[in-house]
Amino acid sequence: MPLAVQKFGGTSVADADRIRAVADHIARTRRAGDDVVVVVSAMGKTTDSLIRLAEDVSSVQPGRELDMLLTAGERISMALVCMALAELGVAAASFTGSQAGIITDTTHTKAKILEVRGDRLRESVAAGIVPVVAGFQGVSANRDVTTLGRGGSDTTAVALAASLGAERCEIYTDVSGVFSADPRIVPTARRLRQVSFEEMLEIAATGGRVLALRSVEFARNHHVPLHVRSSFTWEPGTWVTEEVPTMEQAIVSAVTSDTSEAKLTITGVPDRPGIAASLFRALAEAGVNVDMIVQNTSHDGTTDISFTVPRTELHEAVAIARDLAPKIDSASVLVDENVAQVSLVGAGMKTHPGVTATMFEALAREEINILMISTSPIRISCMVDAGAADQAVRILHAAFDLDG
Ligand code: ADP
Ligand code: ASP
Ligand code: MG
Repeated sequence: MPLAVQKFGGTSVADADRIRAVADHIARTRRAGDDVVVVVSAMGKTTDSLIRLAEDVSSVQPGRELDMLLTAGERISMALVCMALAELGVAAASFTGSQAGIITDTTHTKAKILEVRGDRLRESVAAGIVPVVAGFQGVSANRDVTTLGRGGSDTTAVALAASLGAERCEIYTDVSGVFSADPRIVPTARRLRQVSFEEMLEIAATGGRVLALRSVEFARNHHVPLHVRSSFTWEPGTWVTEEVPTMEQAIVSAVTSDTSEAKLTITGVPDRPGIAASLFRALAEAGVNVDMIVQNTSHDGTTDISFTVPRTELHEAVAIARDLAPKIDSASVLVDENVAQVSLVGAGMKTHPGVTATMFEALAREEINILMISTSPIRISCMVDAGAADQAVRILHAAFDLDG
């Protein structure tokens, strides 16, 4: 029988009614003749509440303990979904990440999956018992419980689909697919019927949180077709697959925004080989993820280097930059937390000149100042003031005629 992995996000299991609806959908899928492995997120905003609780209790949150706390959220959902399935007469059994054989590295709060030993899940499916797996969690080589980073249940689902050779991985969420912009920002945004892994990677990397970035990387590397769809309407959603036929390739597929980064500038840096290397090596060794980098050519032998980092890693990045600044005779370290990245993503822009010009003109018409720019063959990103982010998304969505 074909195997489907079905992942249900937080809103999809937010309360008793939603959990019963999810169980009903799983039962239907089974009746239609498919085997199912289920992955669940924590109910509603449980993960956020647990993080707040930890912050209220202590300013010191060892990664091991934070992970132990957060993984509790998904355990609640998995047990409740199994109970709802039992009432429908569907045999089901819950599994923690560890029981499901999801082995990760030891980086607490953003662990990477190293291996999936899905034996218990395979045995369960073979015995006709639906496995319901807690998303977002694994166990490290040190036998400690780990989490995979926010949104990590998507990654659990795709990793299981790859390892179990599933026919498809269905991601059920609170929107009916991947849209040309976040429907919360642009209500008229259009649902994409199909999107390539390449484009989806860029969308996920630039703030389109409908799929976690790591899950898309995994799906692309292991050729797992993803189907993003609504757990409210159950209608067909967006397929994320290898290639979209050229005929259907839009110049611009989606506009995204991301307010999760902050900008650092090191001013008056001597313009000589090795300076940038020493800075970015120090950041890399501290595990800081650098995104955009801008360095101007120097006029008087010095230059400014600006770069962005996740806000959650800002504290560390600033400490490293401040420590390094005097050693490289630089003047000062400036921090701007009030920034957002707005991006256009589209496979068609590879072969269509003028997209950048249209983007800059649209922003200029609304007097939105561009602070930094970065590009890939299928993406253009501009850093703007955080306060202008939503307006910029709406303007660009209109400028490229993306409405549904
Ligand atoms: P879940 O809890 O199901 O994992 P998430 O909140 O992680 O759900 O992801 C779904 C949300 O992603 C949507 O509610 C929507 O606001 C947001 N989103 C951002 N960009 C997009 C986009 N381009 N298309 C669809 N949803 C998007
Ligand atoms: N519950 C986790 C989070 O809120 C994982 C997930 O929902 O994917 O980030
Ligand atoms: Mg999510």
